[in-house]
Amino acid sequence: MINVTKTFFPPLEEYQKQLQRIWSNEWLTNRGELVLELEEKLKNYLSVDHILVTNNGTIPIQIALKLLGNGGEIITTPFSYVATSAAIVWEHCTPAFVDIHPEYLTIDETKIESAITDKTTAILATHVFGNPCHVEAIEAIAKKYQLKVIYDAAHAFGVTHNGTSIFEYGDVSTCSFHATKLFHTGEGGALFAKDPKLQHQLFYSHNFGHDGPLAFHGLGINGKISELQAAMGLAVLPHMETILAERKRVVDFYNQNLDVTKVQTLKIRENTVWNYSYYPIVFEDEDTLLRVQKALNEEQIFPRRYFYPSLNTINYVENSSMPVSESIAARILCLPMYVELNQSDLEFIVSILNGNC
Ligand SMILES: *Cc1c(COP(=O)(O)O)cnc(C)c1O
Repeated sequence: MINVTKTFFPPLEEYQKQLQRIWSNEWLTNRGELVLELEEKLKNYLSVDHILVTNNGTIPIQIALKLLGNGGEIITTPFSYVATSAAIVWEHCTPAFVDIHPEYLTIDETKIESAITDKTTAILATHVFGNPCHVEAIEAIAKKYQLKVIYDAAHAFGVTHNGTSIFEYGDVSTCSFHATKLFHTGEGGALFAKDPKLQHQLFYSHNFGHDGPLAFHGLGINGKISELQAAMGLAVLPHMETILAERKRVVDFYNQNLDVTKVQTLKIRENTVWNYSYYPIVFEDEDTLLRVQKALNEEQIFPRRYFYPSLNTINYVENSSMPVSESIAARILCLPMYVELNQSDLEFIVSILNGNC
């Protein structure tokens, strides 16, 4: 069976070596030695000077919205994983959807201004498939209207834009280290913020608001990652070069062999070093997608409809019409991509695709 992705497992001995440290420390959570080491190594790997590693990639979005969203309207993209919209509603804010660019698939920055009202407090946009939003335009709009900017950068591990880590953009950026993501800790995530005051607020918010054992800065929740998860991260991180090289091999194969006269592929933003996180293709219509998906499924190949449905149509948000996002969501399929996907699997996948489009 070939799935859309397959979790990268480091050699077991390398994970055991990390576990051994936990057993000798007899320390499982509350920012132990392995979590602190993982943060240092990630700062170095990503060339960022601040990171807070968390227990998943959703809680940092929620914490950021709690601090910056203020219960207001949040300008957001309808084309993302459901966590993006759900976090907004969960934090008692209201999503104000803005349609996406038909090729970059990120929020259409030219349509943001007309969605701003006096209730708007923040913009929450996704660097979908690791493709950066138009961060410069978004920053200018945020400045003009005094809005906060949060980036759901769950897919964007290692991406750089204009020579800078994509996590450096916005007031807060978040990432996911879920098992299906490029770099993972099983479950896990991170948040990034440049402003020291905001960093401090985000930090205490992720640990029940604690200011020492007996005092509290303010309201908080539990966003802490454990040593067991950090152990996985420390075992996976040394393999990033291999992970990226193997995924690049898959992307290059698809690029060179797919009949692109029949499908649209992702257009990567200019001045970006991309991370080969997903390989989405957009078919001419949904019927073609369903036909191709069926043909692949019959051969035990399971691509995924990332992301369907368009988030403006889910039942707990007010439905607004987002023609580009709805059209893309109905026609997009992410092809299998992972380290062990071999040449003959790739040839087989592409022959089915090219034969059924
Ligand atoms: C995976 C993902 C999340 C959630 O991350 P978890 O670590 O699973 O909580 C949020 N947003 C997007 C776009 C994602 O793909």
